[in-house]
Amino acid sequence: MEHNCIFCKIVKGEIPCSKVYEDDLVLAFMDIAPINKGHILIVPKKHYLSLTSVPAEYLEAMMKIAPTIAQCAVREIDGDAFNLHLSNGQCAGQVVPHVHLHVIPRKATDGFNFGWRALTYEEGTEKDELAEAIATRIEKKLAE
Ligand code: AMP
Ligand code: ZN
Repeated sequence: MEHNCIFCKIVKGEIPCSKVYEDDLVLAFMDIAPINKGHILIVPKKHYLSLTSVPAEYLEAMMKIAPTIAQCAVREIDGDAFNLHLSNGQCAGQVVPHVHLHVIPRKATDGFNFGWRALTYEEGTEKDELAEAIATRIEKKLAE
């Protein structure tokens, strides 16, 4: 439990939230500044700053419940689809330093655009070289 963490305070009940789901490992509640109404955050009940340090049991609990929560939020707002989003680290847009998975119900008419972009790789081997380098790192990491 981190002293100054707003989501730890929510988990402990020291700050109120609009809860939609809870089990032993995760809590899900309404985002106070939603992209769309019905926007929900799923958080591990223990404090972790980064997704890379969250134990498998918490990851599993978060991802296992996400589709159900998303589907119910979509139905409730008469939506058509949903996005799952996780900002990991400051320059990726993480503001609250306690891992949280955004569940964002979507409507064809909601007018929201993630602002995705599509860069291109240099012609030749740039993409495959990068893939190989990343694959090597993954192999090493898994062997640790
Ligand atoms: P991120 O930018 O991924 O760190 O997202 C943090 C999210 O937490 C934002 O969407 C905020 O609207 C939301 N948020 C911050 N404080 C609260 C709170 N007290 N209750 C519910 N949601 C919150
Ligand atoms: Zn926390």
